[in-house]
Amino acid sequence: MTVLRLILGDQLNPRHRWFDQVDGAVVYTLMEVRQETDYVLHHAQKILAIFAAMRDFARHLRAAGHRVDYVAIDDPANRQALPANLDLLRDRHGATAFEYQAPDEWRLDRQLADYTQALGSPARMVDTDHFLSARDTAAGLFQGRRRWLMEHFYRHMRRVHGVLLEPDGGPVGGQWNFDHDNRKPWPGLPAEPDDSRPRHDHGALWRAITAAGVGSFGDPMADRLPWPLNRAEALAQLDAFLAQGLRHFGDYQDAMSTRGWRLFHSLLSFALNTKMLSPAEVVARAEEEWRRGAAPLPAVEGFIRQILGWREYVRGVYWAHMPGYDDRNALGHDLPLPSWFWTGQVGMRCLAHAVGQSLRHAYAHHIQRLMVIGNFALLAGLAPAAVHRWYLGVYIDAFEWVELPNTLGMSQFADGGLMATKPYVSGAAYIDRMGDYCRGCRYDRKARVGPRACPFNALYWDFLDRHAAALSANLRLALPYRQLARMDPADRAALRAQAADTRRRLETL
Ligand code: FAD
Ligand code: SF4
Repeated sequence: MTVLRLILGDQLNPRHRWFDQVDGAVVYTLMEVRQETDYVLHHAQKILAIFAAMRDFARHLRAAGHRVDYVAIDDPANRQALPANLDLLRDRHGATAFEYQAPDEWRLDRQLADYTQALGSPARMVDTDHFLSARDTAAGLFQGRRRWLMEHFYRHMRRVHGVLLEPDGGPVGGQWNFDHDNRKPWPGLPAEPDDSRPRHDHGALWRAITAAGVGSFGDPMADRLPWPLNRAEALAQLDAFLAQGLRHFGDYQDAMSTRGWRLFHSLLSFALNTKMLSPAEVVARAEEEWRRGAAPLPAVEGFIRQILGWREYVRGVYWAHMPGYDDRNALGHDLPLPSWFWTGQVGMRCLAHAVGQSLRHAYAHHIQRLMVIGNFALLAGLAPAAVHRWYLGVYIDAFEWVELPNTLGMSQFADGGLMATKPYVSGAAYIDRMGDYCRGCRYDRKARVGPRACPFNALYWDFLDRHAAALSANLRLALPYRQLARMDPADRAALRAQAADTRRRLETL
């Protein structure tokens, strides 16, 4: 009896239980397929890094003695879809059973469940041995609640996993969350850590990908691909972050700068989401840094909250609300994305930098994603499904289970406030406070109307005005709604006109 085991491109975990023993009756397969390159237009680095990491993983398995049948993008036998290739491989190896690890995306979960149901031979889905909570942990915790507050979920996870706890079960340092310490702009020092990531030459693979007709956008960096492609490289990147970045992570977590593109962020999301690293080990290593006095508690707590809290929480939101979550559009927004989302050629300095670096590096840090690009998309009224597709394509770490709740829920408020207690919107003042974008911008951050007025300002007030029916009862928006109510009617009309004009000429901002 031969068992065929499928490994998806984001399941590159060499410590998975499957690989504990070498078994000649098991054939592993990884597949480079158009089904996966084409469901959205992806950044070139994302396609290249995933395929290169899959190839590295297959080499690693073979070297350990496992049997592997790898289906390359240019293999003439490649049928370019998972089910058709699985049929082919089952025949080729005379497989009498099929196994796969639980997919993280609803789309693939459905496809493989349908496939196995129709098989008529033994088939089994096993856990990925990766996450710290089950698909339905959040749903159980929030049963019957209208709002799913991340903080509630996070404290639960701290307790369950015994992270940053006193022996009596309370939080170390006397509080669960040190966020109020974590909101400083970055003055330029300490210096941004060196980019010590490995550089790989994958020119030949890139040529094969393009020759196969795969579309993409952004800079492929094919001769110096800067992402970790296996567990050893991912661990080296974790070490570098713990040594240089972690201690400053808290202070500058929300900072933005034209002088740096990653500041003190870890760049670990690709390694985590492809499962080269486990969230448990990253959390444990960060906690250890605090316990040995190498990093302050607010920094370590802030970092751990992202992984033990946010990352697991958004996955819970995803599984509880799919299918259908991707269609939500609570505010009825419908404008198409302006073309500069694919070129970075826009006069607004903050957007030019954040979009530009997304196209160059396939990366932007959290505040750029949320408070620059996402903030603008929400204020301007761009269609959330189109915004979702852009985020899903552009970022190296974008897999739907994590991208969709962050984009549609957190950033675009399209779920009507399930995840966010209020929309993440601001005028220029926030962007100016947290970074240096506004200095040197052709727009005036203080002006609300007129040709040089920063577009964020009128769009912000107009957004509140347009959506007053849906949002004015929100207590967290009470202050701006009071300001709006006190505004001179002529000023309010001028803001409306300015915003309408801005929304008409998004292409030329
Ligand atoms: P760091 O800032 O160093 O954080 C450490 C780790 O915490 C990250 O690697 C990531 O695994 C985790 N993390 C932090 N914030 C979040 C969050 N909100 N949700 C889930 N995990 C989090 N993250 C993705 O992994 N994939 C996405 O497609 C994605 N899309 C996003 C879209 C929007 C609109 C927003 C606002 C955020 C999105 N995030 C996404 C979350 C976050 O921006 C990225 O995880 C982070 O920027 C990755 O960079 P880093 O590894 O340097 O993170
Ligand atoms: Fe962005 Fe406005 Fe500041 Fe220019 S002035 S950088 S458009 S926030």
